[in-house]
Amino acid sequence: MNLFSRISDGLLQLFFPNNCLICGRSLVTGEENICLMCMAALPRTSFEKWRGNQTEKRFWGKVDVYSAFSGYYYRKGQPLSHMIHDFKYHNNRKIAHYLGRQLGAMIKNAQMANDYDCIVPVPLHQKKFLIRGYNQCTLLARGASEVCGLPVDETILMRAKHSVSQTKKSQESRITSLKDTFVVTPEAERRVGLRVLLLDDVLTTGATLESCCNALSRIPNVRVGIVTLGIASND
Ligand SMILES: [Zn+2]
Repeated sequence: MNLFSRISDGLLQLFFPNNCLICGRSLVTGEENICLMCMAALPRTSFEKWRGNQTEKRFWGKVDVYSAFSGYYYRKGQPLSHMIHDFKYHNNRKIAHYLGRQLGAMIKNAQMANDYDCIVPVPLHQKKFLIRGYNQCTLLARGASEVCGLPVDETILMRAKHSVSQTKKSQESRITSLKDTFVVTPEAERRVGLRVLLLDDVLTTGATLESCCNALSRIPNVRVGIVTLGIASND
């Protein structure tokens, strides 16, 4: 994003702090960031209510996932994609926190909180973290944690460090290999039977989450579940 849009976004927030982020209408008491009408118009999946849902199916035959769901259907150009863009690139942390709280309510209502020990946000590249200043998945996880009660644990899963062989690769292949490489910390490897609820913003191919699952499988007797805010359609 450029400086101009960053400033104009900031000004909008400053002068219209109580307007819906989607439609711009004034918010009334009880509404937060998004008006109830826009919230109701977001395409909910209700996947958390049934096993064998689309999110779970994406991982079948690939990695062992105890339970999984995505909160909303994700399509480019739709309000949810604008909201995700806003908290990923426009520093709109409030909206990430708010949407995280919605996920937390889904986890709580589906009684999934009893199945896990902690929420683990998918770690961000160090480079991206330095540029953005935050991991949007951590913000979502903190919001979710507030409502469902599961603590956020960022000491378990890490992005793999550059290895010597990787630095020799071409720029492109290095980016690809770094993108999907995760490791569990030595401390986490000792947490036998740990039950982890992984959290990511949008499920597309599932490659990133699969890679996380593979890393987590180093923990003996681990249980892994997956929650994503959005699920992109396969078409
Ligand atoms: Zn609205």
